[in-house]
Amino acid sequence: MVEVLDYDIVIIGSGLAGLRAAIEAARVGQGKLKIAIIAKNQLMRAHSISAEGGSAAVLYKDEGDSFDLHAYDTIKGSDYLADQDIVEFFVRQCPIDVLELEHWGLPWARRDDGRVAQRPFGGHSYPRATFASDRTGFYEIHALYDTLLKYGNVDKYNEQFAVDFLIDNGKFRGVVAIDVASGEIRIFKARAGIIATGGLGRLYGYTTYSHLVTGDGLAIALRRGMELKDIEFVQFHPTGLVPSGILITEGVRGDGGILKNANGERFMEKYAPTKKDLAPRDIVSRSMMTEILQGRGFKGPNGLDYLLLDFSPIGAEKIKEKLSQVREIGIHYVGIDPVESPLPVRPSAHYTMGGINVNSTGFTGIEGLWAAGETSCLSVHGANRLGANSTSECVVFGKVTGGEAAKWLLKNPKGVELMEGDRKHAEDIVAEMHNQKGDNDPYEIKRQLWTIMDRDAYVFRNEEGLTRALKEIRELEQKSRNIFIKETGNVYNQNLIGAFEMRNLVELAEVVVAGALERRESRGSHFRTDYPKRDDDNFLKHTIARKVDGKITISYIPVKLTKWKPEPRVY
Ligand SMILES: Cc1cc2nc3c(=O)[nH]c(=O)nc-3n(C[C@H](O)[C@H](O)[C@H](O)COP(=O)(O)OP(=O)(O)OC[C@H]3O[C@@H](n4cnc5c(N)ncnc54)[C@H](O)[C@@H]3O)c2cc1C
Repeated sequence: MVEVLDYDIVIIGSGLAGLRAAIEAARVGQGKLKIAIIAKNQLMRAHSISAEGGSAAVLYKDEGDSFDLHAYDTIKGSDYLADQDIVEFFVRQCPIDVLELEHWGLPWARRDDGRVAQRPFGGHSYPRATFASDRTGFYEIHALYDTLLKYGNVDKYNEQFAVDFLIDNGKFRGVVAIDVASGEIRIFKARAGIIATGGLGRLYGYTTYSHLVTGDGLAIALRRGMELKDIEFVQFHPTGLVPSGILITEGVRGDGGILKNANGERFMEKYAPTKKDLAPRDIVSRSMMTEILQGRGFKGPNGLDYLLLDFSPIGAEKIKEKLSQVREIGIHYVGIDPVESPLPVRPSAHYTMGGINVNSTGFTGIEGLWAAGETSCLSVHGANRLGANSTSECVVFGKVTGGEAAKWLLKNPKGVELMEGDRKHAEDIVAEMHNQKGDNDPYEIKRQLWTIMDRDAYVFRNEEGLTRALKEIRELEQKSRNIFIKETGNVYNQNLIGAFEMRNLVELAEVVVAGALERRESRGSHFRTDYPKRDDDNFLKHTIARKVDGKITISYIPVKLTKWKPEPRVY
């Protein structure tokens, strides 16, 4: 049995992007649109809730910050792969949308004079990360969710796992989902959709991402013929806590913390003499791995050799006030209070720069379908995102897509009908997975995938490793078609959900590695030891991946430059 629920808009994902999109769609729709927001877990538990350090915005032009400076920092940080027109729009919008959150109740930290406080962040040449202690995402999600409650025409659905989008003749018609609590299949029929399902971080074993982030929206989009852009660019955050990978925010270094090697040296002085520990993440992560590979790290468990993050320059009082969450993380996860001793850290998979290829309004090219947040690629971040720019991007473009979808619906009031066969299609997708009685354990396939990605598609990459990874991923792809689902029930069948997630990850791994293999240069987070230089003549272009007849094809489109010419990235 398939239950069909009828809406005008369905928003898939309730992180910062999805919640902000829902508010805007409800506001612009003025009560005339029926809106559903669905999430695979509890709406208030989206991964965004774990954002720590801050949201970038130019708030103090009177003190020397400027839109041009924020844009330049972002573009230089992106290693010139960001589209400069979209960056210029983004930086102008950030202060409006970040301050709007305050009007909705977000308690931004304050300076002594009562104005909103900002902290320094990597690659930014002005302290422009607006923050709420080191729990920025937590407060942002709460402010957005509370605001959404003001709108009566938004239905909120917890624990709906999307397995497909219904698209016919280039037109969006709805989402197929499993109601995780009952196992029932649902179609959220809608004329418009906004994909806000987050990144693909659980492609890696050692990562700051929660287990939720399995690239489902990206994988469905790929299968449904949409383009993925620049997906080989995965950010490795310098300070993942060893051995779990949990994030220790860049705010620690923003507030004065420093990285040290096993000889007690502040090694970043050597690699980035001006910005030092606050160089962009790609540079700090590469410097750390160089220190480790050259023998100046500490031996860690399971090959996770590490360096130290020293909090002592910050001072105990400030740590307790501004970094209370990372202090708790240190105490609970490794038994170290950073007020007393440094924390063990190494680069951890953290952010997906690429995503669904969309235009400047988040439009996917499928009629009625937009994408926002980490799952989309507007090309704000290019080859390397600056810290604090993502949460801002989510609110800026969540708002844009929500508004666009609502305006389009008001102009085009005609409804959609399900096609003959949509219900059966929905049942078939779920039954195919439920009935798997093959040879391979889906969890084991996921573990093998992590080993491959952590080994061959990490901070340093090369032809030999990537070729091996591609071959092994394709073997895993075969295995993923021949699995067994042990759990037979319908209620909270996590085994079933986990199998869908695993297949999505394996499919996306192939795209990441194929793109990385073709990009024979080093740019931003993608560093090829066999092509260690940036090659603007051949690779100042975006990668576009598509799935055609079951095979990944790679092509390229130009980067949009406005006034900033590519130059060497020195910090
Ligand atoms: C630990 C950590 C700290 C960070 N700190 C910062 C920071 O301080 N500043 C900053 O700018 N950036 C930070 N980032 C990055 C930033 O938090 C994320 O990029 C951003 O929050 C992503 O938001 P989103 O709305 O795109 O997706 P998410 O918050 O990941 O939300 C995705 C939503 O989609 C839903 N979903 C996914 N798949 C399905 C499916 N199959 N069916 C139904 N629903 C689905 C999920 O349930 C969830 O509701 C941090 C990232 C990490 C990992």
